[in-house]
Amino acid sequence: MSIERRNAGSKKASAALLSRAERLCHDKNLRFTPMRRRVLAELAASTEPLTAYDLADRVREEKRVAPVTVYRALEFLLDAKLIHRIVIRNAYTPCDHAPHHDATPVFLVCTHCGSVEEIPSETFQHDLSETIAEIGFEPKSRVFEIEGECARCHASSDR
Ligand SMILES: [Zn+2]
Ligand SMILES: [Zn+2]
Repeated sequence: MSIERRNAGSKKASAALLSRAERLCHDKNLRFTPMRRRVLAELAASTEPLTAYDLADRVREEKRVAPVTVYRALEFLLDAKLIHRIVIRNAYTPCDHAPHHDATPVFLVCTHCGSVEEIPSETFQHDLSETIAEIGFEPKSRVFEIEGECARCHASSDR
């Protein structure tokens, strides 16, 4: 659903994401630097998650941009919850759910086209948290990523 939207109307979706970022930075008195904007715009325009190296290639103009500069921008965008890190790809994708969500989403990662769909996980996380608490385990991080075939790729492979 969100991938559909990102593919079909990526300009619209990225404009919405950029204005969301502007509002958030203004409200929290944070600087939305040109590099932060460039990195977010590249992620919003991409149909699949991008690594820091992909981004360093895309945002460089006359001179090379060091990956560390891109990493700093990515850290800012992660903290602001404007993007997410896809661990199994070591890559980044814009957040599909405005304005904010606390629960870690589930990411459906297509192994064919590379698209990522973000779906809410509140219901199952509640059950999961109870089970984890019963065991007495103290979770520090949560990663919910499922690899497979997206609806579009699945439909085209069925023929
Ligand atoms: Zn999100
Ligand atoms: Zn796919």
